[in-house]
This record gives sequence, structure tokens and C-alpha cells, in this order.
Amino acid sequence: MTDPEPRLVLATRNAKKARELRSLLEPHGIRVDSLLDLDPLPEVIEDGETFAENAARKAVQTAQALNCWVIGEDSGLQVDALGGAPGVYSARFSGEAANDDSNNALLLEKLADTPDDRRTARYVCHVAVADPNGDVKLSIEKYCRGRITREARGDGGFGYDPYFLIPEYHRTFGELSPLVKRQLSHRGRALRALLPELLKLAIPNPV
Ligand code: IMP
Repeated sequence: MTDPEPRLVLATRNAKKARELRSLLEPHGIRVDSLLDLDPLPEVIEDGETFAENAARKAVQTAQALNCWVIGEDSGLQVDALGGAPGVYSARFSGEAANDDSNNALLLEKLADTPDDRRTARYVCHVAVADPNGDVKLSIEKYCRGRITREARGDGGFGYDPYFLIPEYHRTFGELSPLVKRQLSHRGRALRALLPELLKLAIPNPV
């Protein structure tokens, strides 16, 4: 029997990222599953040199494995004073066993001598949508600019958020509500830019 509820899958195992993506899509009638809800699949190797390559890899490999529509998302932090690092290595900045705390500790260490006005950075989010054959149908990249603080502020969000200050708001993403983060973030911007095209695709489930 065919699946009575065709689905759009989010190719991520990061629960907090999946929650943000879901909350951006579901108000538009797009029901999504994350890989966390599904049987284990072979790990996608994220060895691309750009966010675009990694997002496409996640979308294509997962779509082919599951034979369904998939959104692949790759994101990260680029710090100007570090020449754009950690970039595509954001999740494993401090090594293979990295976690948010060890990544943030390394970030602060590397920026210890960088004055406040040179601690500028941006978050990047690239989203790619693949059809069940593994063909990329949509691809988009958006940014959110901010500044890296010297101390953690707030416990909202995830990853580098407690250190990512939105200067206009005088708050970090750790302090701003999920609603405000959705409005301002790289992920919110990418998903909002994608939505009109996503809704036009012949995805069986979304509306
Ligand atoms: P990915 O799962 O390979 O795309 O890794 C993304 C990594 O970039 C995360 O593990 C975080 O370290 C960082 N990152 C991406 N988006 C955000 C965000 O919205 N807040 C904080 N950190 C983020």
C-alpha cells in the first residue's frame, strides 16, 4: 500500500534546528518530518566546501534514500575577524567530539584580542529542495548579521546564539524570543524567500 500521507522530510538530525524549520513551515500548511522521526538512514557526509554543496548533498542523498521530497539545510557562522571561520565547519569547530560549549569556548579564545567593533559576523543558511529522484528543484541562501559578545547572554536558541548579538536589538539570539529569532534569522529569511516557490511545486503533501 502506498503511504496515505506523503511527506516532506527535513534532512537534519539537529532537534533544535528541526524545531525552527518546522515552526517556519507548518503555519503555511507544510507538514514536515525530520530525520529524527524516521528510521536511521546512512549519515550524509558533509564534506562540501560551501553551504550550498552541503545543503544539496543532504537533500539529494536523503531524497534518493527515502524516495520523497526533502529539504536540505546547511547553516553556520562566519566571523569577519577569522576570515569567515568557522563557516561550513561550524558544527565541528572544536573537533569531531565538538558540542556547543566547546565550540563557543574556542570562538571566544580566538577572538580574545579582537576589539568589540571588529567582532562582526554573520549567520548563513542555505536551503535546497530535492524531488524524489534526487533532482534539486530549489536552492536559496540568506544571511543575518550580528556581533560576537564576550560573555554568554540568554539560554534561548542553540549553537552560537548566546554570543550572537543583534546590535539593533541590543540582545543576543539567546535572549530574543523564538518569534523574534524567526523574523530576523538567516533561517527565517531563507525559508520565507523559499516559500512562494515551494508552494508552487507539485509536492503531494504540503497544502
Ligand atoms: P549543520 O547542521 O552542519 O548545518 O551545522 C550548523 C551549525 O552551525 C550548528 O551546529 C551551529 O553550530 C551553527 N548554527 C547554524 N545556525 C545556527 C543558529 O541559528 N544559531 C546558532 N548556531 C547556528
